Amino acid sequence: MPFHVMLIPTLGCPSNCNYCWSSEENSPVMRIETIKAVVEWIRNFRDDSVTFTFHGGEPLLAGAEFYRQALPLLSEGLKDRKIAFAIQTNLWKMTPEIAKIFAEYKIPIGSSLDGPEELNDFQRGKGYYKKTMRGYEIAKAHGLNVRFITTFTSHSINHKEEIFNFNLEQGRTLKLHACLPSLRGDEPEKWALDPVKYGELLVYLLDKYLENRGRIEVMNIDHLCKNVFTGRGTVCTFVDCMGDTFAVGPDGAIYPCYRFVGMPEYVMGNVYESPSLETLAKSWAWKLMHAYKAFVDQECKSCAHINYCRGGCPYNAITANEGKIKGLDPHCVAYKRIYDEITERFNKELFGGAGMGIPGFAGKGERAEQAQKNPKSGIMSLMLKRI
Ligand code: SF4
Ligand code: SF4
Repeated sequence: MPFHVMLIPTLGCPSNCNYCWSSEENSPVMRIETIKAVVEWIRNFRDDSVTFTFHGGEPLLAGAEFYRQALPLLSEGLKDRKIAFAIQTNLWKMTPEIAKIFAEYKIPIGSSLDGPEELNDFQRGKGYYKKTMRGYEIAKAHGLNVRFITTFTSHSINHKEEIFNFNLEQGRTLKLHACLPSLRGDEPEKWALDPVKYGELLVYLLDKYLENRGRIEVMNIDHLCKNVFTGRGTVCTFVDCMGDTFAVGPDGAIYPCYRFVGMPEYVMGNVYESPSLETLAKSWAWKLMHAYKAFVDQECKSCAHINYCRGGCPYNAITANEGKIKGLDPHCVAYKRIYDEITERFNKELFGGAGMGIPGFAGKGERAEQAQKNPKSGIMSLMLKRI
């Protein structure tokens, strides 16, 4: 059973995106001793393979020296198992020195751009786009694989076509994220994407994806289709993440996920104490996360999508319900909308025009003509794509 540990070297960030909820001014930077403690903790904790994602705040603020020491400490210290690395960064602080270190460990990079420069900078702050592109060029020059996440907000949803075309023209894979209510600032809902609109956006992107088959990848749609086809979730939102995902904050505190880092009530333990699974399981946060699992079993039991949705993200559910387990992830509406759409189209293709969307079957005669006339067809090819 692989598991995931998010390492948060700092909650500080040089950017100041309008809707950000995960950065904190004057946050300390993780010491290298904390990485040594992480290695010790994991050695005693579990012997499964592990993926480490450096996240923030802005993880590059930790600097080249931190990664030069941390990466070999983690990979050498845990060489008895398979380990992988990833990083989520705005790339502003990328330097040739850091890029070289990351290239050595073939670290895939996730970054963020919300669309063309003007739109992006309206949401993320003036100058953001250029600073990210500067870092992107350095990363690219060192052979690093960079993918961008697009955050859709209450504002940018009105520019969805422009954003889709921007990614299409740039030849970029589109991966999206729905803006959540912020825990900072006076207007937490201002930028948040309404769940109904989020559902409509996903259906829109499914159509655009099918219309532009072979010219772009929309990662979320691929995952959603795969979930329906295999009957189980393939990203954290759609599996029971509790117990298989952890985050370690700058001071070594262990949380259920990076989204909780910096909130003392969600601390489950500290790597310096090398807690066992049993010890973590005694914490309030662990119990809360597992209470969500039980809540979903009950609340979603009559939903056709429960096996590959699992109630969505517990963090979303917890923050939307004043820290309590008394409601589902508010994006349930969106999940239902897109899962219903995929299932319906799948059934139509399967029983209405067998094989229409299967690669190799759609290329000839009447079926190919049908597929061309009906750009909404082809859901099966998306479902099979990542199998
Ligand atoms: S709490 Fe949400 S974001 Fe965090 S691991 Fe779970 S599903 Fe993913
Ligand atoms: S779509 Fe909604 S009701 Fe269905 S499993 Fe997901 S969260 Fe539960």
